[in-house]
Amino acid sequence: MTASNALNWKWSAVVLLGLHPLPQTQVSVLRPLTLRTEYLVDPLAIDARVPRLSWLLDAGTARAMSQSAYQIEVASSATKLARDRADIWDSGKLQSNQQNQIEYQGTPLTSRQRVFWKVRVWDQGGVVSPWSPVASWSMGLLNAIDWSAQWIGDPQPSVDNVTATTLRRQFRLAAKPRRAIVYASALGVYELHINGHRVGDHVLAPEFTDYRTRTQYQAYDVTSLLRAGDNVIGGYLGDGWYAGGIGLAQALTAKLRNTYGDHPRLLAQLEIESASGTTRIVTDSTWRVTRDGPIRSSDILNGEVYDATREMTGWDAPGFNDAKWGGADLAAGVHTQLVAQSNEPVRVTRDVEPIAMTNPRPGVYGFDMGQNMVGWARLGVARAPGATVSLTYAEMLDDSGTVYTENLRGAAQTDRYTARGGTTLEYFEPHFTYHGFRYVQVTGLAVAPRRTDLLGRQVNSALVEASTFQTSSPLLNKLWENVNWTQRDNMIGIPTDCPQRDERLGWMGDIQVFSGTSIFNADMGAFFTKWMVDVRDAQTPDGRFADFSPQPFQQRLVEMKRGDFMGVPGWGDAGVVVPWRLWQQYGDKRQLRDNYEAAKRWVEFIQLNNPDLLWTNKRGNDYGDWLNSDTMNDSTIPRKGGEVPKPVFATMMFAYATDLVSRMGAVLGDSAGAQQYRGLFGRITNAFNAAYVTEDGHIQGNTQAGYALALHFDLLPESKRAQAVSYMLDGIDAYHGHMSTGFHSTYRMMLELTRAGRSDVAYKLINNTTFPSWGYSIENGATTIWERWDGYVKGRGFQDKGMNSFNHYAIGAVAEWMYRVVLGINNDDAHPGYEHFVLHPIPGGGLTSAKGSYRSIRGTIESSWQIDAGKFSESVTIPPNSSATVYVPATSADQVTEGTGPATRSVGVRFLRMERDAAVFEVQSGHYTFAVHPAR
Ligand code: BGC
Repeated sequence: MTASNALNWKWSAVVLLGLHPLPQTQVSVLRPLTLRTEYLVDPLAIDARVPRLSWLLDAGTARAMSQSAYQIEVASSATKLARDRADIWDSGKLQSNQQNQIEYQGTPLTSRQRVFWKVRVWDQGGVVSPWSPVASWSMGLLNAIDWSAQWIGDPQPSVDNVTATTLRRQFRLAAKPRRAIVYASALGVYELHINGHRVGDHVLAPEFTDYRTRTQYQAYDVTSLLRAGDNVIGGYLGDGWYAGGIGLAQALTAKLRNTYGDHPRLLAQLEIESASGTTRIVTDSTWRVTRDGPIRSSDILNGEVYDATREMTGWDAPGFNDAKWGGADLAAGVHTQLVAQSNEPVRVTRDVEPIAMTNPRPGVYGFDMGQNMVGWARLGVARAPGATVSLTYAEMLDDSGTVYTENLRGAAQTDRYTARGGTTLEYFEPHFTYHGFRYVQVTGLAVAPRRTDLLGRQVNSALVEASTFQTSSPLLNKLWENVNWTQRDNMIGIPTDCPQRDERLGWMGDIQVFSGTSIFNADMGAFFTKWMVDVRDAQTPDGRFADFSPQPFQQRLVEMKRGDFMGVPGWGDAGVVVPWRLWQQYGDKRQLRDNYEAAKRWVEFIQLNNPDLLWTNKRGNDYGDWLNSDTMNDSTIPRKGGEVPKPVFATMMFAYATDLVSRMGAVLGDSAGAQQYRGLFGRITNAFNAAYVTEDGHIQGNTQAGYALALHFDLLPESKRAQAVSYMLDGIDAYHGHMSTGFHSTYRMMLELTRAGRSDVAYKLINNTTFPSWGYSIENGATTIWERWDGYVKGRGFQDKGMNSFNHYAIGAVAEWMYRVVLGINNDDAHPGYEHFVLHPIPGGGLTSAKGSYRSIRGTIESSWQIDAGKFSESVTIPPNSSATVYVPATSADQVTEGTGPATRSVGVRFLRMERDAAVFEVQSGHYTFAVHPAR
């Protein structure tokens, strides 16, 4: 036994035997680390006046470690903090096991204020940890008067001249600054430069919001870019979502561009601190602007046209002659609220090398990235000055081996590059667009390129990915990878439906079903905090959530007296479901508080319009259980029988939303509200059963989906649950062991099969390789989740080109089942944020092993199991300050060992009970290896 193990053992003994804690000179093995403020590491601009602080805990190999108290110190400088002079806030020692979302309670924070903080914790034995490493956060510009910058742009709007605007301003500094922060935003999209360097690595800032209501600004520390003497700040300003093409605009408003406005604007405020005080350089009429720069046009959907012969060398550094440029135009009356960006920025997150290069036609070169990805390509070009190369991006190839672009609809996804010309390769990357693609087709090259001349640049919200998953099944592993890629590809400041065709909107139904999976895949706290504001901004005064958020067309739709694209069952519900998920997985009570009123208004809108509590009126576009098997185009699949009737579906969603609103009320301490919505839930359930469920338990439509949803939302009396399960199984038989479900019911049916003890059937469905199944797409080369089960069929070809994305996450929500059942990681609503959880892996489907992890907000959970020569073993890791109920498949507890001895006597393990075919233990933090031995 090593010294540290001995120590660990001792601490375990302290807890388990209830001994007195050892003297305070001892140091706990607990270590607070990964400090975050509002979900972010050392953020530079926080809007929340009461920021919330979180940390993770490490305990080495010690078991049964938890936090009994903590102390947070916040100081105005790192030096003060090092001397424990917490001049901003000293929480003192607080008895609490909370380590997430702890509200700052120090002196009120002001704009720009930068603070430093650290935390220490006491373990279960009352022994204190060392102080954590130091973290920091800065407040943003909290009041409108903090801004002296003005919105500036070229005098001409971006209607006929769609060239990006280049802007610059030269200024002098007496000394090198001590610290400099630039706050910047745009109505449009921007890229900032200082002294010949790009500022930061954000892409497509300020990202997509409802600019009519609010616009995000970013903060960058640019201290190292400035110097004594002459300096230049400048930038490129493109159309972006504000003034450029936007998904569905053509279809809904007969105008592809200029949805929010036709005049892009830049806003920048550079604040420079030096020994002699603070200097501000702000966007104003002294800035110079031109439309003669190299970015000839840029559009999110269509791509970018870049002419390198028009590059203005040195434009972003001192000494450049801008005499031919014009003066900046000031915008009057911009009404948008500036808010600090609260989510992780969109960035280039990885590079992807092509796996092959082809030459399907003379002069046409195809690059296969081997992965359906999102972003763009960097291409090395050797061409004469003025020669143009074009790159078209697509997800699939047609039969002739050239790009299949029909499913992109109105999105051209084409970049054009005009060469500077020279003796070496010149490299092109676009600035203000993104594409969804696996293939890049290049024309206009003088000679055949090498495969390595092109590099894929993956672009997405830079979320911290949270999980791993590896089993003995290559099919399941690939499915998990495809789901993760699809998530990456669709998180671009908002959760989009797809990244390629002329849509790319924050479709609410898609994320309503995928939010659970998304939170297992990555840290989504900051991302959803931002997006839920978009959701509330898009809610109509009468309580309807939009079909997608942001909803850029609401004003136009109202003007045109169209009431659609709002208030749809299963779509609007994201406004209730996503905050609830954030509460379950992160313990984020503020999300519940911020969304409670909006959620109640949604439920009340439905109730008001449907007094008999069956949702038969006002269902907007009423998409129903979208893309169920009735929408497949194959003679082997029945044309009818998959789709749950729409009023039945709608009423179930109404009940579910009401149930969640009631739970929200209970968590928030609004017991009257909780009771009111609990009562309403009961009445909706009664109405549902009376209208749609027969005496013998048949649900109208007799669909797999109907039973799955009714079971999942707990709408049936106990006496009818078993019948519902058996009809659901009959339904699966009727489709020869396949699903007929749509995207709301698919993953929910998987979870309900498991809940009913029929994981064998769920495993059968997930292992299917004939459609409808995930395996079918994988066997046909999918690297992301397809929108349709039959997006492409050998021999038949592509599905309806009007709606056939190969990068849609909705049916990828099945990964939630993979986490909950294959790895067995389940949150516990009684102890949100993984204070306690359930580890219940269920082997099956021919798997011989599974191994994975999830970095929960309380730390990393690991779960792995294997069956070796018929012998089952299971390893688990429970993060410090957490505990889990662990299920081990066995017929008696005596069969189970942990480490080298009986599980029932293992340190940190307590036997609870036998259940179905599992021994159930309560397990404290640490790493454990259980094995099941044949019964004696
Ligand atoms: C989107 C979907 C969305 C749907 C509404 C489609 O065009 O891509 O995923 O939820 O419209 O039915």
